[in-house]
Amino acid sequence: MEAKTANGQPPVLSINNLKTYFFTDLGVSRALNGVSFDVPYGRVMGLVGESGCGKSVTSLSVMRLVPKPGRIVEGSIIFNRGERTKDGYKVIESVEMTELEANGPKARSIRGAEMGMIFQEPMTSLNPSYTVGNQVAETIILHQDVNRREAMDRAVDIVGRVGLPNPADLVKRYPHELSGGMRQRAMVALALSCRPALLFADEPTTALDVTTEAQILDLMRELQGEMGMTIVFITHNLGVVAQMCDTVGVMYLGRIVEMADVETLFYDPKHPYTAALLRSIPHVGSTTKERLAPIRGVVPDPYATINGCPFHPRCDSFMPGVCDAAVPAETNIGDGHMVRCLLYSDKGEVEDNG
Ligand code: SF4
Repeated sequence: MEAKTANGQPPVLSINNLKTYFFTDLGVSRALNGVSFDVPYGRVMGLVGESGCGKSVTSLSVMRLVPKPGRIVEGSIIFNRGERTKDGYKVIESVEMTELEANGPKARSIRGAEMGMIFQEPMTSLNPSYTVGNQVAETIILHQDVNRREAMDRAVDIVGRVGLPNPADLVKRYPHELSGGMRQRAMVALALSCRPALLFADEPTTALDVTTEAQILDLMRELQGEMGMTIVFITHNLGVVAQMCDTVGVMYLGRIVEMADVETLFYDPKHPYTAALLRSIPHVGSTTKERLAPIRGVVPDPYATINGCPFHPRCDSFMPGVCDAAVPAETNIGDGHMVRCLLYSDKGEVEDNG
């Protein structure tokens, strides 16, 4: 029987104890150190945290695009291929992504067609020597059984649906001829051209002004509902999370330290890191005289070895002899709210950092 999640739909993506390490001359960087989560069909899950916490490596691992000297060393990534039905999503095949050859035919057929990705900077992701229409049409031809003319018609259609003006003319233009907001819309069109079941959006609006950002976020929400997509939204911006996401995973040093639905996370955060992140951003109603509270210290060097809870050198609730002795285990504190902190459970493991 198909596994179902809180919204009654099967998970499109199931990650379990995923570990991705980078083996460099300076040592081993444990970019992902035991990440687990499910994303049900039709939901938007946010991954948040400071730079270097492992958000982007999570999406690259799922898509089998981890650059060398990185490698998945342990864990499982199940992608449930399926079809949209009137009741939601029907799983046809569960694919263990870690067992696929990264550049083999199956991984390539899944990437772009069933899993899409919107990158932060479209100027480096769109090819400057091809027109927007050519790039979108190429992706469609690669994954679907259509001729060039049909592919170009579909490219015009999707370019129009992402709100770009005069799509029949716009597909003939090169990326450098477009403004930043238009390029980002073109990137969204490219990622959505094959109607992927799962979309990773990696800081898709970071480089945009707030007005264009709001338009792109509205557009993504609209297309998500229309196309029946599942989205993993990667950002460091908690305002964007509040606007876009149904559930949120907070990452710190390669682990998810708290996961909950978006309201619980904002109104009842349990992990000291989540609480500190929320204190560090302005709130509606804050006065200009109120000082924001930055998080003490800095994210440790990726090669550093920290005994016990990785957040303990920065944590205001640090318990000597407890927090520096064991890595907190995942503790479910009810209603899908997970936290990794020894304030809520004494379950932890002594890590072998050798
Ligand atoms: Fe802070 Fe200890 Fe919880 Fe880590 S385990 S977050 S150091 S209270």
